[in-house]
Amino acid sequence: MSALRVAVVGGGIIGTAVARHFACHHDATVTLLEKEDRLAAHQTGHNSGVVHAGLYYEPGSLKATLCRRGVDLLHGFVAEHDIAYEECGKVVVALDDRESTRLDALHARAVANGVPDVRVVGADELHEIEPHAVGVRAIHSPHTAIVDFPAVTDALAGELTAAGGTVRLGNEVTWLDDRGGSVRVGTARGTDEFDLVIVCGGLQSDRLAALLGEPTDPRIVPFYGDYFLVPESQRNLVRGMVYPVPDPRYPFLGVHLTRRVDGALMLGPNAFLSLGRESYERRRVVPRDVRDAIGFPGFWRFAARNLPAAVRETRTAVSPARFVAEARKYVPSLETDGVVRGPRGVRAQAMDSRGRLVDDFVITGTDRIVHVRNAPSPGATSALAIAEHIVAEALRRRGLIPEGPADR
Ligand SMILES: Cc1cc2nc3c(=O)[nH]c(=O)nc-3n(C[C@H](O)[C@H](O)[C@H](O)COP(=O)(O)OP(=O)(O)OC[C@H]3O[C@@H](n4cnc5c(N)ncnc54)[C@H](O)[C@@H]3O)c2cc1C
Repeated sequence: MSALRVAVVGGGIIGTAVARHFACHHDATVTLLEKEDRLAAHQTGHNSGVVHAGLYYEPGSLKATLCRRGVDLLHGFVAEHDIAYEECGKVVVALDDRESTRLDALHARAVANGVPDVRVVGADELHEIEPHAVGVRAIHSPHTAIVDFPAVTDALAGELTAAGGTVRLGNEVTWLDDRGGSVRVGTARGTDEFDLVIVCGGLQSDRLAALLGEPTDPRIVPFYGDYFLVPESQRNLVRGMVYPVPDPRYPFLGVHLTRRVDGALMLGPNAFLSLGRESYERRRVVPRDVRDAIGFPGFWRFAARNLPAAVRETRTAVSPARFVAEARKYVPSLETDGVVRGPRGVRAQAMDSRGRLVDDFVITGTDRIVHVRNAPSPGATSALAIAEHIVAEALRRRGLIPEGPADR
């Protein structure tokens, strides 16, 4: 049988991991198509860089299982490629008794998800782990880590090309046609034909799905997250990561303090509707993206239900001091002086027409096309496991591997 002709659309960490998995483990000729002039240009290159341990996710969900498997695979991969990876650990801090009750529920979930060595600590032990953090109790996850996800993506691409795969940058896929047993993929540079196409388009994933007549529900609604950078003189205030207990009234995690592998200490991200799916400058408005978001009834249903969150996030969006004040609840000695605006990321958050944020990873498709429709955090952590899962599922649908546990 001749090699399977596979195209992967989207050179973020997930698309690159999928392409590399096909090329390295299966008889396939693989082409990775990326519209930008570099890999990891969007979410993969604009995130917190946290290797999540799996605390938050519904046990049994794709997020829970692929995050844990993803950490194991990523750990091995960075060691092989000598990529900086630091297990600096994380605390989730309860500020009062109400939050303390929620902390216990979160801990039970972390245990159910198999997060290693996770435990609840009291105020004294919190002080030993993070001497500048305050709280009544905390969850300590000692193996939560930080990494440079673009460096991981480049190393994945290196393995892809070493295995004979091709990376085509500056190749925006503008049409897809699934007919007659193969899929035709169109870019400004021409048309190619493939047996199997995996679409990992991140912020554009709903539009790419629509090219093939897939349902437009769920829709991507872009939420930006700003980060602030703490001056060097204050970086030693945090050893690892300090997070709030998630508040069920708010859909995102809330401002936290995170170390980066380059030694920087970041505050953020907040969450606010972005005026462009790929806008990283504050004033860059993309009319089509705004129209798509505000013309989507789901967005207004979401907005109506999340008014308190919108008010909280508006405060952090307009006032850096307010932003720092959120972080200071956990690390009171943090000073506003010298804190500067850092990078911005935009989340590809899928939302259904009833205005509910889609929580789990969503992967849909047929035996010829697979779409990653929702891969928010911990998508980067989980990328190698998502790739393993997608490839096994795609080959199973084509009858190329038997029904059974995921191919490893
Ligand atoms: C602010 C923020 C913080 C986050 N923090 C973390 C974290 O700490 N840990 C974690 O695990 N996850 C985190 N995430 C989530 C993580 O970044 C994503 O889950 C992950 O990067 C998704 O990878 P991707 O490859 O699907 O998407 P992307 O990295 O967005 O890649 C999609 C690619 O598709 C390309 N593309 C789109 N349309 C086309 C087209 N028509 N033709 C060709 N190419 C196309 C784009 O240019 C892009 O390169 C965070 C995300 C954000 C935004």
